[in-house]
Amino acid sequence: MNEATYLGRNITQVKAHNLKAILLSLLQNERVYRVELAEKTSLSTTTITNLIDELLAQGIVIEDGPEQTDRRRRVGRPRSALHLQKDARFAVGVHIGFGMFRVALVNLRAEVLDNRMVDFTIGESAEEVMKAITNMINTLIKENKVERTRVIGVGVGVPGLVDHRSGINIYSQNLKWEDVPIQAMLEDRLDFPVVVDNNVRTMALGEAFFGQGRSVDSLIFVYGRIGVGAGIVVDNKVYRGSGLGAGEIGHMVILAENGKPCRCGNTGCLETLVSVPFMIEKAQAVCQQKPQGLLCQHLSKTEGSLIDSVFLAARDGDDDANEIIKQSAAYLGMALANLVNLLNPELIVLGGIYAQEADLFIPEAARVMRQGSFGKLGDKVKVQPTPFVWKAGMIGAAAMALMSFFYMEFEDI
Ligand SMILES: [Zn+2]
Repeated sequence: MNEATYLGRNITQVKAHNLKAILLSLLQNERVYRVELAEKTSLSTTTITNLIDELLAQGIVIEDGPEQTDRRRRVGRPRSALHLQKDARFAVGVHIGFGMFRVALVNLRAEVLDNRMVDFTIGESAEEVMKAITNMINTLIKENKVERTRVIGVGVGVPGLVDHRSGINIYSQNLKWEDVPIQAMLEDRLDFPVVVDNNVRTMALGEAFFGQGRSVDSLIFVYGRIGVGAGIVVDNKVYRGSGLGAGEIGHMVILAENGKPCRCGNTGCLETLVSVPFMIEKAQAVCQQKPQGLLCQHLSKTEGSLIDSVFLAARDGDDDANEIIKQSAAYLGMALANLVNLLNPELIVLGGIYAQEADLFIPEAARVMRQGSFGKLGDKVKVQPTPFVWKAGMIGAAAMALMSFFYMEFEDI
């Protein structure tokens, strides 16, 4: 991986570091003046001027015309604001989920230009999946007529334990993968640098820089579908933990007694109360008792997924479906209260089914979180769905590439 070549030629590490400081300021502010950049980055005005000239020449930055009417500056050279040219460079985000992957091509503000989803069979070799991912990345770049020299890198989000430094997926229970060197496998096939991390962690980073988290210093992203996990970002840095497993809240024990067995070997984990497979199991149990009920009618339809049938039944007014969702939302709220007591974030962002059906989950989850958090800690914590909904995984993965290779130093994320 060569981080210093994103401007199209080799530059020194110091210069790359300074450029990244400027680019990060331009990302975080819609318009910035050179004087402000000098203050924000602690670089000299001469350095700023030189680097901005290069970024202007590269087309990465654009400059407004001089502000002739600025009353505060009647003398001297007129000021002109600088902006990021968001379509000057691109990144690729790959979200590997349960039996499918999504690939997105995004610009410098992580706006999706184009995206695709591809199914694969669980148990398929990682080699085959990486081949399919490579093909899809190449297809997207070609079809969107993006020059390969303008692609700064590829980010990959994958379930389970990931060593982001080596880009190895150490263990993924969902995919049945162990020690898969995703970064090396993709870099062998592609001419871009690749960064890999846990998928919910990438979503948290995406939210911090490009979504709901832009105005806060700390956030927790909670994702739930087949599995349940959290990503933690504090002061623009991802918290991974000593063994790279921070955020495995799906295995937080919520029911100490009489809990259901979890795939991790414990019983009563959060996942056994709020994930899709367990909600479907509950719905099917209701269906056996009330075969004529609305919920059962929805579940027996052939189109759509089983979990969507539960949501549809709830929206059609079925009491059992609403009760199943309300219970899950309450357990989720309990887990959120534990998170608030432990980390006291400013913002909790929910993804997966909790964002897809935000109005069904969030009011109850937020109520229980506030009730269960210590003192009045929970009152100030905002709980919001991710604005990216089902795109959160690929936008997060792309954000990991943008932050690692363009806006920041890889080690600082
Ligand atoms: Zn568990």
